[in-house]
Amino acid sequence: MSSGSIRIGIIGGGAAGLFAACQIKRLSAGRDIRVSLIEKSSIPGKKLTVTGHGRCNITNRKDVSLLKEGYHEAVNFIYPALKEFGPEDTICFMENELGLKLKEEDNNRMFPVCDSAVVVRDTILDYLKGSTEIICDAKVMEVKKDRVFKVKTSKGSFDFDAIVLSCGGSSFPKTGSTGDSYKIAGMFGHTIVPLRGALAPVRLEDGSLGFASSLSGVSVTAKVSLLCGEKVTASRTGEVLFADFGLTGPAVMAISREVPADISGMNVSIEMDLIPSLSDEEFDMELQKLIGEHADTKMATLLSRFATASVAAEICSKAGISGLYAQGFTKENRKKLIRETKHLRLGLKDVPQIEKAYVTRGGVSLKEVDRKTMQSKKVEGLYIIGEALDIDGISGGYNLQACMSEAYLAARSILEI
Ligand SMILES: Cc1cc2nc3c(=O)[nH]c(=O)nc-3n(C[C@H](O)[C@H](O)[C@H](O)COP(=O)(O)OP(=O)(O)OC[C@H]3O[C@@H](n4cnc5c(N)ncnc54)[C@H](O)[C@@H]3O)c2cc1C
Repeated sequence: MSSGSIRIGIIGGGAAGLFAACQIKRLSAGRDIRVSLIEKSSIPGKKLTVTGHGRCNITNRKDVSLLKEGYHEAVNFIYPALKEFGPEDTICFMENELGLKLKEEDNNRMFPVCDSAVVVRDTILDYLKGSTEIICDAKVMEVKKDRVFKVKTSKGSFDFDAIVLSCGGSSFPKTGSTGDSYKIAGMFGHTIVPLRGALAPVRLEDGSLGFASSLSGVSVTAKVSLLCGEKVTASRTGEVLFADFGLTGPAVMAISREVPADISGMNVSIEMDLIPSLSDEEFDMELQKLIGEHADTKMATLLSRFATASVAAEICSKAGISGLYAQGFTKENRKKLIRETKHLRLGLKDVPQIEKAYVTRGGVSLKEVDRKTMQSKKVEGLYIIGEALDIDGISGGYNLQACMSEAYLAARSILEI
């Protein structure tokens, strides 16, 4: 594809599609390349504008050898892409090509200094002016390959020599990602690994919901463990936010991808340790000390030394010890309090909802995509990138970095550089 004019079609103008257009522009200077980005919404990059709570956590400045561990089962697949175009390359591109200065926050997370994901999207659109034809309000309905790719959209048909498929996953469908990547990849015989929500809130069953909903809006630092029966399958310490439907916040969202695909008939729960800095024994010793020193104080008041007052009150109520004073507080009562504070079991109602998830787990099988180019192993000239693939990263800029790294490999391969 390196000689003569090349027509490149980018299907889907989210983060991955926009990054691909940027990389093609950057790498193809002086060449006769025609790039069209086809987007079904009225403006590209809707999901990009809500990233990082509207501030866009664009990448994570960890060394690539550490960064790759944040991609779960896709660690080996993503490694070459991260090595070829890693966080430092993203930072360099954002700062030097787009003119968007970045800053580093906790845990190596990188954000634009302007703190605005909308500015990131709009700056990219400005950068693409003159190099990329952006066709909005055009839903791709069918893609066939004859001699060239024939792309049928709601706005007419287009021919291309190469296609970048970047229609996203199924999470957060209100931003445009409604699973069309899978339909289009399916038209070429690609296998779709079953879809689930990752980085998602969880809903609690009725018996556990009262506790969470009465604390709706309160956030705590806790260790959360996912239990299938009595087996711990994932755990994380961090912020947990109680909500009227259940639990959310970074720690809960991080372990949500490990909820089994089907939990019917299974006893799946989240165990919360609200005082992760103390072991059960240490907490019991602290309690005994306080009980000895404050005989006339209510236990809920003493517990509020370890947890927010509203949380302490709910725990005492759940343990059935509301109203009890330190004086006469028995060993059995202490056991109950320790259980509800450090082993608080909350049952899940169902699997995390994909519509509420930040990213999709599952997607186009990685076995059918060349990890060094992002080209389909089934169809020459078809490149698949972004959330469409069976890759989900942890939070902290990992998912946008994956889009950026994959976009680079695809652009380089299409242009055969
Ligand atoms: C609330 C939220 C916050 C997030 N924050 C971060 C963060 O701070 N850092 C981070 O790294 N990741 C973050 N993520 C994840 C990140 O946004 C995604 O991984 C990333 O946007 C995926 O990019 P994509 O281009 O593959 O898909 P998308 O961004 O979903 O883009 C797909 C595009 O394709 C278009 N499309 C779909 N079907 C068709 C069709 N048939 N024809 C034409 N166009 C079509 C859609 O309209 C859409 O514009 C966040 C996600 C959410 C939901």
